[in-house]
Amino acid sequence: MKKIAILGASGSIGTNTLNVLRNHQDKFSLVAFSVHSKVDLIEQILEEFKDVEIVGVRSLEEVSKLASKYNKVRFVEKEEGLFAVATSSCDVLVSALVGFVGLAPTIKAIEHKKDIALANKETLVAAGEIVMKKAKENNVKITPIDSEHSAIFQCLENNNEVNKIILTASGGPFFKKTLKELEDVSLEDALNHPTWKMGSKITIDSATMFNKAFEVIEAYHLFNVKKEQIQVIIHPQSIVHSMVEFKDGAIKAQLGVSDMKVPIAYALSYPNRLNNIANYLSFDKVNKLEFYEADLNRFKPLKLAYNALEEKGTYPCVLNAANEEAVNLFLNQKIKFIDIYEIVERTLNAHTNSKGELTLEKIYEADKWAREFVRRNFVC
Ligand code: MG
Repeated sequence: MKKIAILGASGSIGTNTLNVLRNHQDKFSLVAFSVHSKVDLIEQILEEFKDVEIVGVRSLEEVSKLASKYNKVRFVEKEEGLFAVATSSCDVLVSALVGFVGLAPTIKAIEHKKDIALANKETLVAAGEIVMKKAKENNVKITPIDSEHSAIFQCLENNNEVNKIILTASGGPFFKKTLKELEDVSLEDALNHPTWKMGSKITIDSATMFNKAFEVIEAYHLFNVKKEQIQVIIHPQSIVHSMVEFKDGAIKAQLGVSDMKVPIAYALSYPNRLNNIANYLSFDKVNKLEFYEADLNRFKPLKLAYNALEEKGTYPCVLNAANEEAVNLFLNQKIKFIDIYEIVERTLNAHTNSKGELTLEKIYEADKWAREFVRRNFVC
C-alpha cells in the first residue's frame, strides 16, 4: 500500500488525484491533505478516506467543529499545516498548490525523503536548480504530473540518446490572434480554454502562453537537457501531449484524451499502469492533428523563458512572481489582459540578477522584491 499526501486537495489536480485513489483503494491510502478555502470538502474527504492523519487548513477557527468530530485527525493551520502534510507518514507527496507558495512545503518533503508527484510547476520555475539538487542529495524521485512532462517522461523510459524534446502547446484560446487583437480580450474569453478544464491561474497562464514558458523551464530541470534541445510546437487538439526526438531521427510521442487523471495515475503508480483511469481515445473521431511553429516574437513569454534559462540566478523566480501578481490583477479586473506581458517584462528589466551561489534566501528575497515592484508600479 502506497501512502499518499496531497497539497491542494480541493483544486483541479487534487480532486482528480482523489478520483484515482478512490478507484484504486487496494493500492493507495490517503494519509494527509490540505485544503485552502473549500472547507466544506474536508468532511467529505475524511468520511471517504479513513486513514487520514493530518489535515492542513487555512485557519483552525474555521474547522473547530470538524476537529472535535474527528479527534484522531490532527488539524494544522497556515504554513505549518502545509509543512505537516508534506512531512506526514506519506511515501509520495502530490504537490498541487498553485504558485510560489508550493515551493517551501515541497522542499520540506524532499528534505524528509518523500517522493514528489509534481503538479506545482512554479516550484521548478522559481528554484529549479535548488530543488533538483536537493532531490538528488536526498535520493528523492520527482515524477511530473504536468501532462506534457509526463508524456516526455514516458517517452524517455529506457532511452537516453535524446536529440530534442518537443513540448506541445494547445496555444490556448488566442493563439491565432495578433498582439494587437489581444488588446480587446475579456476575462471571460481568457478563462475559456479550448481543450483543458483547469483552475483560473493556470487557465490565464495558458491564454498568455506563460504556462508554456514555465513548462520550458520545468522541462529543462526535470530532464537535464540544454535549452536549445527544447522546442515548443503549437498543437491545438491537445492529443499529442509531447514528444521526444532521438539522435537517429526517431520520434516517440505520447497521445491520449485530455484528462489529468492519466498523468496523475502514472506519477503515483510508475512504472505500472492502472485500469479505469480515463476514456480511451477513438482515432476515428480524431479527424486531424495540426502542428504550428511557436513564433517567439508573437509568444513573448517563450522568449522570456529562454532568456531565463540563459540568465539563471533569480531571474526565473522574478519571472514567476511578476506573472503571479499580474494574473491576480487581471483576475480582479484591475488590468487588461495584454498588460500582463508588459508588467512581467518591465519587472524583469528592473531586476538586478543575483550573482554567486543561488540560495533559497535569495529566491525568497527576489520573489518578495518582484511582488512589491508590481504592486508599487502597476496598482493604482
Ligand atoms: Mg501542462
